[in-house]
Amino acid sequence: MDIMKEFECKGCGTVVYLPPKNKKEPICPQCRGVMREIGERVKVSELEKYECPACKNVFFMKKDYAPYKCSFCNYTFPVTPRLKQEEKL
Ligand SMILES: [Zn+2]
Ligand SMILES: [Zn+2]
Repeated sequence: MDIMKEFECKGCGTVVYLPPKNKKEPICPQCRGVMREIGERVKVSELEKYECPACKNVFFMKKDYAPYKCSFCNYTFPVTPRLKQEEKL
């Protein structure tokens, strides 16, 4: 099972997960604040995957959260509620 790097926003506490191969520093998808790496997590199935249509970077958030902005560029995600898709990856 994949291990994800876990980042927390120093400003608002939003948590974002990145694949270990992603070496970029994310910025907060909610408040654009600085994020710090807080550890690793294995339960990928509880996370929702987001792929930015602008910069093609992939990041993950907990299922009840949705990004406002991309963690890597200035793209703004649409606010339409997402339907529940697969429960398992
Ligand atoms: Zn934040
Ligand atoms: Zn982006």
